[in-house]
Amino acid sequence: MKTKKKKFRIEISGEFFCQGMEMTGKNPGKTLVVTAGVHGREYVGIQTLFTFAEDILCEEINGRLILIPVVNEEGFYQGSRQIVPADGINLNRAFPGDIHGTRTWRLAAALETCLYPKADFLLDLHGGDDNEMAMPFVYFSACAGTGVTEASRRAASSLSVSVRTASSARNGLYSQAAQRGIPSLLLERGGGGLWSAEEIKECKKNIRELMVHLGMIQEDEKGESKTWKNKRNIARKDKETEAGKEQREILHTEYLRFPADGIWYPSVIAGQYLNAGDIIGELYHMDGELIHRYKAKQAGIVLYYTTALGVRAGDSLAAIGKLESHLPLKDREGTP
Ligand SMILES: [Zn+2]
Repeated sequence: MKTKKKKFRIEISGEFFCQGMEMTGKNPGKTLVVTAGVHGREYVGIQTLFTFAEDILCEEINGRLILIPVVNEEGFYQGSRQIVPADGINLNRAFPGDIHGTRTWRLAAALETCLYPKADFLLDLHGGDDNEMAMPFVYFSACAGTGVTEASRRAASSLSVSVRTASSARNGLYSQAAQRGIPSLLLERGGGGLWSAEEIKECKKNIRELMVHLGMIQEDEKGESKTWKNKRNIARKDKETEAGKEQREILHTEYLRFPADGIWYPSVIAGQYLNAGDIIGELYHMDGELIHRYKAKQAGIVLYYTTALGVRAGDSLAAIGKLESHLPLKDREGTP
């Protein structure tokens, strides 16, 4: 096959939505679609895809790699939290889309039309928003067909992140792809409206691990992807977690939300292990009266949490992944 690297635009009926890069490899293989910027302030994934195409040669790819660094361009440029500015809707709740709907619904429809038919696998990069912090972890859809869920789960296991989490969502870019029979993952990393070279390196490593898993690039005998520039930093031990533990699967996650406007003092950090009764944080009225002290109902891990001082009723407070009771206590302590 002739290798090719070309830019493309997603447009329907003259309406522009977003742009990307398509890399066609030398040999046949799978098509992997990697997206970021569904939420415009989740910068780690966005910056990762801005530079990922420079790090890899078409000659090294089997199949095809499709990269879209900023799905929601207006949200990115306007610094909107979670939403598409034109209509205030969260794109990751707008699938399946509607070409006759408002801008977000049309964007969802355009992505479905242009990406799903090509994709053998879809990876969507996220992180905490500017008011949140997330540990590195990966979601797989637990409510797709058995084959799709299992293929997604196996792919999640190939990534060097310490937690994979089952999700019951159906209306996001990756979760709707799973509903349509495309194995897919959502990767979370970072937050706070920040990105760092270290996070970009880790995020790129995860994409390459997925490509190795899908047979799109080669892994040499040392367990290193041959296409990685920075080979000495990617020894096999990186498959383990930061704490040297195996990846663990979380089947149940508690999504906490604030019941009222208030001032928020979190007591946790992303990735922290909690025992039942540990304090997650306290919410106060502006006059100093305590609204609520949040405690962990059971052993868990803080997948992400809100860092903002001022919060509104209905905002996300934290996501706590439930750790199964058979895990020994010592494994639940510390930060992964
Ligand atoms: Zn997001």
